[in-house]
Amino acid sequence: MSASANMRAIRGRLLWFEDDPALAGEDAATRYIEDGCLIVEDGVVRAAGEASDVLRNADDDMPVDDWRPFLVMPGFIDPHLHFPQTQVIGSFAGDLLDWLHTYTFVEEQKYADPAVTEAAARFFLDELLRNGTTTAGVYCSVHRQSVEAFFAEAERRNMRMVAGKVMMDRDAPAALLDTPETSYRDSKALLEKWHGSGRQLYAITPRFAVTSSEAQLEMAGALAAEYPDCHIQTHLSESRREIATVAERFPWSRDYTDVYERYGLVRRKALFGHCIHLSDSERQRLGTAGATVVLCPTSNLFLGSGLFDLAALRATEPAPQIALATDIGGGTSYSMLVTASEAYKVLALGGQKLPALAAFYMMTLGNARGMGLEKQIGSFAVGREADLVVLDPRPTAAMKQRMARVQSLAEELFALMMMGDDRAVAATYVMGEQVYTKPG
Ligand SMILES: [Zn+2]
Repeated sequence: MSASANMRAIRGRLLWFEDDPALAGEDAATRYIEDGCLIVEDGVVRAAGEASDVLRNADDDMPVDDWRPFLVMPGFIDPHLHFPQTQVIGSFAGDLLDWLHTYTFVEEQKYADPAVTEAAARFFLDELLRNGTTTAGVYCSVHRQSVEAFFAEAERRNMRMVAGKVMMDRDAPAALLDTPETSYRDSKALLEKWHGSGRQLYAITPRFAVTSSEAQLEMAGALAAEYPDCHIQTHLSESRREIATVAERFPWSRDYTDVYERYGLVRRKALFGHCIHLSDSERQRLGTAGATVVLCPTSNLFLGSGLFDLAALRATEPAPQIALATDIGGGTSYSMLVTASEAYKVLALGGQKLPALAAFYMMTLGNARGMGLEKQIGSFAVGREADLVVLDPRPTAAMKQRMARVQSLAEELFALMMMGDDRAVAATYVMGEQVYTKPG
């Protein structure tokens, strides 16, 4: 291989997935190379394999980042979190609706100020990278300027982000309300400007049915019909009180999912946060539409919303896409490792299991598929964008002590996901460029 100026090698214990270990079997789905090497050119994966093979024909002057004995994986993907909630995370409150009114709706009003949003965007993206997260599905505030600031900062860093302006025209403070018309107009202007600009993608973002009128959901649906390749993101069936409120406000609906169906918002690349209390019929309709349900375990535990039923979703024919997310700031950690460990516990309480390989699949290729981005990110297949995370399985004394006893990759990954957090992230790369290095 003759080296171009934009070429580099990244060597380490390569791990990625080609399929879902829960469905295809762990051996068939998992690619693990003990002494592996990636070749990255112009930000995309050119080769991934045994270091001895990949480096054999490489020019001597090609730079090599040697991370052995650390793991090198595709960057983590967090398909559901809220950009304006970095300063309400960990706030004591009652249930979901209390928490929104007491903290979130107060905080989000500050995002009318571009100085606030610009500083928050820098913090937010720094924090994602510190946790090894390279792509996210992001709710901005209702203010256009919050979306502008977010996308501008993401584009400056060349990070692949999916984000949108929250649409909300009732049941919130007046300063946070738009109207059906302004929410349509503002969303469309932002979409036209940012969707497909560099690596940025727009998500049509009605917050949830509680805070949108029928007229607003209709406008959201009109926009979705005009832009069939755009993402849609909202919340569905998170808490019992929320579900009761939706039933009251949309008396014609047969269930919560029906409200979004009515307005054409249930389809491929539509991401529904939480989906805890779904009926069999709702699961089946979400699956038939090719929609994605997003498990947000730290948020569900923190707000006491309920326990996600992965087995019921997987047993649905056809099954919806299933993704795993932090839901900052109802969620309590930016770390996808912590999120996976809490997912394990949520499922354990329901008598279900989440093996380590299935969890690491979810954080990478599974979430890429859930976002309809598996052709761009989530694996080391040739041609994928080279976003990656370097993981140190022994960052603390307790983890070093534990790891001395592991005898297989699956055991090591399980201990890493149960005990690990941002301290396990040694480095993060975006499009082949190292953009975060753990200090010290
Ligand atoms: Zn959320």
